[in-house]
Amino acid sequence: MKSIMPVPINEERPWMVFGACRNVDPELFFEGERENPGPALAICSTCAVTDECLDFALEARLSEGIWGGLTSKARRRLMRETA
Ligand code: SF4
Repeated sequence: MKSIMPVPINEERPWMVFGACRNVDPELFFEGERENPGPALAICSTCAVTDECLDFALEARLSEGIWGGLTSKARRRLMRETA
């Protein structure tokens, strides 16, 4: 099964090895975002690296998928509120 992570795990992103989604079908976090984000958000709620993941998604301006416990819509709202 593929990993959700679209970028290689390396020394710059060591937190990725601890992601609760590491062995979960990425469709849950991408297609699932539109259809039913609940299951992916539930996995994020158990994740030990939510802050790191969210920071990465915001810095990389990832426009799709659930990252750091937030949907893309929620991340856009957060970025507007903190701009
Ligand atoms: S916060 Fe969610 S998307 Fe990010 S690594 Fe953890 S489980 Fe995966």
